[in-house]
Amino acid sequence: MTMTSRQHAAPSFRALGQRALGELLGRTSFRQEQRDAAQAVAAVLPFRVNSYVLDELIDWAAVPEDPIFRLTFPQPDMLPAADLGRIIHHMRRDASEQLQAEVQAIRRRLNQHPAGQIPRTTPRLDGVPIPGLQHKYHQTILFFPRNGQTCHAYCTYCFRWPQFTGEPDLKIAGEPDHLVDYLRAHPEVTDVLITGGDPMVMSAGNLARCIEPLLAPEFSHLTSIRIGTKAIGYWPHRFTSAPDADELSRLFERVTASGRHLAVMAHISHPRELSTIHARDAITRIRNTGAVIRTQAPLIRTVNDTPGIWSQMWQSTVRLGGVPYYMFIERDTGPYEYFQVPLTRAWEIFRDAYASVSGLARTVRGPSMSATLGKVCIDGVAEIGGQRVLVLHYIQGRNPSWVGHPFFANYDPTAAWLTDLKPADTLSKRFFGES
Ligand SMILES: *Cc1c(COP(=O)(O)O)cnc(C)c1O
Ligand code: SF4
Repeated sequence: MTMTSRQHAAPSFRALGQRALGELLGRTSFRQEQRDAAQAVAAVLPFRVNSYVLDELIDWAAVPEDPIFRLTFPQPDMLPAADLGRIIHHMRRDASEQLQAEVQAIRRRLNQHPAGQIPRTTPRLDGVPIPGLQHKYHQTILFFPRNGQTCHAYCTYCFRWPQFTGEPDLKIAGEPDHLVDYLRAHPEVTDVLITGGDPMVMSAGNLARCIEPLLAPEFSHLTSIRIGTKAIGYWPHRFTSAPDADELSRLFERVTASGRHLAVMAHISHPRELSTIHARDAITRIRNTGAVIRTQAPLIRTVNDTPGIWSQMWQSTVRLGGVPYYMFIERDTGPYEYFQVPLTRAWEIFRDAYASVSGLARTVRGPSMSATLGKVCIDGVAEIGGQRVLVLHYIQGRNPSWVGHPFFANYDPTAAWLTDLKPADTLSKRFFGES
């Protein structure tokens, strides 16, 4: 355990919306048009930030290009210029009714239901749908605990943002009792992935109520418990100096002592998140419990779209004792066009980064798309019989027999998602859901 970390204060506040906007305007010397635009985009896209991100991660001298700034503060060019113009117009005239109507209309135009995720994968027990659970792949269930559906900061590219805008029917919230009942009926499940939002916004007590029941002997089929979190990057004090940090470590220790793999799936989007003493202390603290830290992130234009950033991120991860896990393709939702990187470019970035790191960092997989039918990895560009193709395979599939088989799509340098691609041959058609 690192004693030094206890001297660090926890973030002094978590600023939401208008207050965070105040921080932005106070720390920059934006011109009036920039201030108006920042205010307007903040009215449409939800955001949130804490003092750790503001004080330790953002390089204010580099704003607005700074990558952590772009990760946390919505950018004016995420919205069509005409939409932004109407918002500014209503704001200037103080027309709050028209403003609200406009905000709702713009939000509806951004795709709020990526790949039909929620209804398609809500599992049933005795015919009754269980909210807050997803069972898409045989071995693994996702659990969304009720108290873990917010975040320390909202990433501007986040596909969960409809959850944060507070529309109740878009929220998914699970109860530990349902998780346990479901597991009892599904001995094929080896992995439970606790996710959010960010489950690490929960108290150690609430988290224990989700995890402790899983350690019972009847669930010996469970080999791994994963917790998906951004806290190492955005709120490392959670693990070191929060009032219940010790209780949390003891919970982690009980999981590993039960003979299970505890994986902290750390969402790290930029190497700077691993560079602070606070993040390093948090990692030491977590590793001392026997938990393994695995890192993953989406590839995001203007934030981490160079091979150098990824190789640095993977190398830092390995140096700190973690395991690089996934590079994701940003999915087709929210202000997605703003952040999207074409698939062929994503593969080049992955390949160049992968080629520059040692084998210990090549545990990473990707670039991967979490599509409706599974996780699709882009293996590269090839030429077969004079035809240029993209080579793909399923890392995970609704249909397990698809996993690991190469298939082909027509080469298309502008395609940014699986649905933009066309099968290159007859055999590949079924992997696109065509028979
Ligand atoms: C990624 C994912 C998993 C876990 O897949 P692994 O390859 O084991 O990491 C499980 N369920 C869903 C819905 C996923 O997207
Ligand atoms: S940490 Fe993950 S869930 Fe939270 S806002 Fe960022 S991308 Fe979304």
